[in-house]
Amino acid sequence: MMCSGDHEVRCVNRKLLLEALAKELPSGTIRFSSKVVSIEESGFYKLVHLADGTILKTKVLIGCDGVNSVVSKWLGFKAPAFTGRAAIRGCVNFKSSHGFEPKFLLFFGKGFRSGFLPYDDNRVNWFLTSSQEKEIEDDPAKMKQFVLSKIENVPDEIKAIVENTELDFIISSPLRYRHPWELLWGNISKGNVCVAGDALHPMTPDIGQGGCAALEDGVVLARCLAGALLKEQSGETKEKGDKRKRGI
Ligand SMILES: Cc1cc2nc3c(=O)[nH]c(=O)nc-3n(C[C@H](O)[C@H](O)[C@H](O)COP(=O)(O)OP(=O)(O)OC[C@H]3O[C@@H](n4cnc5c(N)ncnc54)[C@H](O)[C@@H]3O)c2cc1C
Repeated sequence: MMCSGDHEVRCVNRKLLLEALAKELPSGTIRFSSKVVSIEESGFYKLVHLADGTILKTKVLIGCDGVNSVVSKWLGFKAPAFTGRAAIRGCVNFKSSHGFEPKFLLFFGKGFRSGFLPYDDNRVNWFLTSSQEKEIEDDPAKMKQFVLSKIENVPDEIKAIVENTELDFIISSPLRYRHPWELLWGNISKGNVCVAGDALHPMTPDIGQGGCAALEDGVVLARCLAGALLKEQSGETKEKGDKRKRGI
């Protein structure tokens, strides 16, 4: 099936997106290789314990640590529910132009859904979601065979996308999500701690919205924090002004 019409679908490479976002930040903002293992309360502050033994003292803690979030666990959320499905994803880099139009091709079959979307002239991204096949989970060669067996009736040029994908570029992920009522009844925030993105609302990739929703969370949170800081600043100014008036 071809998706066309007024709405354009664009494929963005995750690495490029992350690099573009990181480039906007002052250098040194991101501290890499810092796995959070636990969170401890210390009065108003939270002490974030890292795997290497480092302890970070935080004034505000926003957990953007994905579907297995340590912060959402600390807030009392249950582990996300497994859907009983997995997604196998791949990316192929053809030596020359693949010739596909920038259109999202979708194929449905018994118990599976598969999609193909170019993200530049040479590269094509693809996925197949289906009931989880435990035994093929960690073996890219078996994943490839499994996908090819499912899409045997699609046109040859589409099958060639999977056939030409190198094994290092094939992965499988179990699909998990958080029940909406858990979001309604759970603690999205507690004091100076909150969660955003998949840590808050992990969802299945069926409508391709998880990453988009995570970006929206970032924008909304930034606005809230900016509003709070401005309020604090104007409060301080008023307080300072009052002090000045009182000659202090
Ligand atoms: C198969 C599949 C296909 C998808 N397709 C789409 C799509 O087409 N469009 C779309 O919008 N979304 C899609 N998504 C969803 C999208 O990938 C996620 O919603 C998005 O990545 C969430 O962003 P995030 O920053 O919240 O979490 P993540 O991208 O998971 O980032 C979490 C970060 O936290 C780090 N981290 C994890 N644990 C710790 C820890 N203990 N300590 C410190 N750091 C930690 C990780 O290393 C990572 O850097 C798809 C997801 C899957 C599984």
